[in-house]
Amino acid sequence: MSTPRPTESMVRICSLYPDLLGTYGDGGNATVLAQRLRWRDINVDLVSIDAGRSVPDSCDLYLVGGGEDGPQTRATQELQTSGALRRAANNGAVVFAVCAGMQILGERFPDMDGVDRAGLGLLDCVTVRVDRPRAVGELLTHDAAVTAPDGTVRPLGTLTGFENHAGRTIPGASATTFGRVEIGEGNGDGTEGVINGSVVGTYLHGPALARNPALADELLRWIIGDAALTPLDDSDVDALRADRHLAARAHELAPQRSWRDRLRGS
Ligand code: GLN
Repeated sequence: MSTPRPTESMVRICSLYPDLLGTYGDGGNATVLAQRLRWRDINVDLVSIDAGRSVPDSCDLYLVGGGEDGPQTRATQELQTSGALRRAANNGAVVFAVCAGMQILGERFPDMDGVDRAGLGLLDCVTVRVDRPRAVGELLTHDAAVTAPDGTVRPLGTLTGFENHAGRTIPGASATTFGRVEIGEGNGDGTEGVINGSVVGTYLHGPALARNPALADELLRWIIGDAALTPLDDSDVDALRADRHLAARAHELAPQRSWRDRLRGS
């Protein structure tokens, strides 16, 4: 996509299956995106689609959150059957998926019994179970960047959030990532996130777009373009981000380190 998707008078955002994939508060990503559009006097149509309901294929942006293994498999089955998310993504809709959401959009992931399940194949990655403790805690990247659908690499600063996952994700050759993890696990290979075109996956909860407004605005830029992306006052979020950076580093250095090391067997 070299030019932003044409928008009529409003941006249509679809929050997918909050009843199945709402465990980690990722529904806040929809709130953040909608509010950042409204602050810029851009109309928003925000729909929330629970499991069993028909998924529209005409939205500009789709959000998929994190959840437990059982609901993750159910959400995958529903999305495979519906085909709407795949159609929308193939038409250039932006998709932002967190943790279980990212795993669902990959090529395959292990279900609650450890059996390999096919994902939607919108992200070039596979998720596997490894002989390591569940990754739980603050997640902080070094200076991150995202490859936009037009191929430009856009700096995002550090990304901050928390993670809580058993699976580890291996990005494939056609995918890019946000870059290197400073604290936490992320994908598990030292990188964080998986990006293919306008489909973006991450292990960052927080909600991620509340903690990282640069990422929120970059996703919006892909839809509304540069000119409509007027600057906002994010000073409150800057303070929160500074606090979370300190918390992530303190957690890594403080006594908690010892239980993490014990779990790792070192
Ligand atoms: N069930 C997945 C895992 O543990 C995803 C967890 C999540 O969404 N936070 O890897």
